[in-house]
Amino acid sequence: MTTNKQADVVVIGGGVAGLAAAVVLGRSRRSVIVVDAGQPRNAPSAGAHNVLGLEGISPLELLARGRAEAESYGVNIVTGSATNASGVLDDFTIEVDGEALHVKARRVVLATGLIDELPAVPGIEAAWGHSVLHCAFCHGWEVRDQRIAVLGCNENSFHQVLLFSQLSDDVTFFIHDAPNPTDEQREQLAALGVDVVTPRVERLLVEGTQVRAVEIEGGRSFEIDAAVVAPRFIARTALYEALGGNRTTSPFFEQIPADPRGTTAVPGVWAAGNASEIMTMVAASAASGVTVGSAVHGDLAAADLAQAVRARRKPFSAAMEAENCEAILGDRRHGI
Ligand SMILES: Cc1cc2nc3c(=O)[nH]c(=O)nc-3n(C[C@H](O)[C@H](O)[C@H](O)COP(=O)(O)OP(=O)(O)OC[C@H]3O[C@@H](n4cnc5c(N)ncnc54)[C@H](O)[C@@H]3O)c2cc1C
Repeated sequence: MTTNKQADVVVIGGGVAGLAAAVVLGRSRRSVIVVDAGQPRNAPSAGAHNVLGLEGISPLELLARGRAEAESYGVNIVTGSATNASGVLDDFTIEVDGEALHVKARRVVLATGLIDELPAVPGIEAAWGHSVLHCAFCHGWEVRDQRIAVLGCNENSFHQVLLFSQLSDDVTFFIHDAPNPTDEQREQLAALGVDVVTPRVERLLVEGTQVRAVEIEGGRSFEIDAAVVAPRFIARTALYEALGGNRTTSPFFEQIPADPRGTTAVPGVWAAGNASEIMTMVAASAASGVTVGSAVHGDLAAADLAQAVRARRKPFSAAMEAENCEAILGDRRHGI
């Protein structure tokens, strides 16, 4: 049996972006339902960094606090996965866990984050987010002065070498899938003191979630403490496409195209956080949610005003009409 729920706004995704949007909307006295599958991107990490005032907080603790704050303003948080979306402005339907729940809403916020598509090298998956990393700002401090391997994935890998070599004097660049460095880049790598390894990487040797070594073709291995990879960032765009939108694709990422206020090409649908901005970190994703929540409330306020004016005009017109009729009848009585 299907349960039905209704709200002004349905927010899909209860990460920092979705919850921040929900708090703004809840505080603006909007009815809000957040549908969340509970798998934030940074869940494997012990701490979320560069979160001002909450530096190093556990990502799950941060979201627990965010949920409590949203709920304190009347936001209804539903645990589940939005499996389909349909409808148009003012009349959207979101299916949750198939037919289990239908949420009807006037506006939709897509805050569904992204999937990090990791290189297909054995060992990476097990250590991802612990000792296999992607972002110098998120984890660089934690691996400072350690033995760091940058596993070349694409053009971005050279930039990762540059950033991580600011944090450690022991960085090795395994070219693997990255383009061969140009002569200029080779000179730069030499200037940074970065060794370059050409044979392809066969596997990472991992104990639990701790990477211990990189093994290359031919069997030679290099002991390391951390590995850096450049995933493809694949935003979850299926619901946007179900609502009639088109995703943006590039060799490095896929995302929902949206303007800086999160407005998409589909009327009534906004996108926040990594769903539309693959590079935003925690604080910026939360800021994106705040921006989108404000924009959605502004849009609803304008729609409500237009509706109120229409409603006010109706009785006003009827009274005027009655007055006009009376005047015409009066004129007739007086033979005018
Ligand atoms: C390993 C790792 C470590 C990181 N560390 C840091 C750090 O230290 N500092 C920092 O600033 N940034 C860090 N980041 C980046 C950070 O994770 C993102 O900026 C942030 O998570 C983006 O927030 P979001 O709300 O857009 O998406 P997410 O946090 O990914 O949240 C999206 C939510 O939507 C849910 N969802 C998705 N699809 C559906 C659906 N169909 N129905 C219902 N729910 C759905 C997901 O389950 C999830 O709960 C890290 C990233 C990674 C990969």
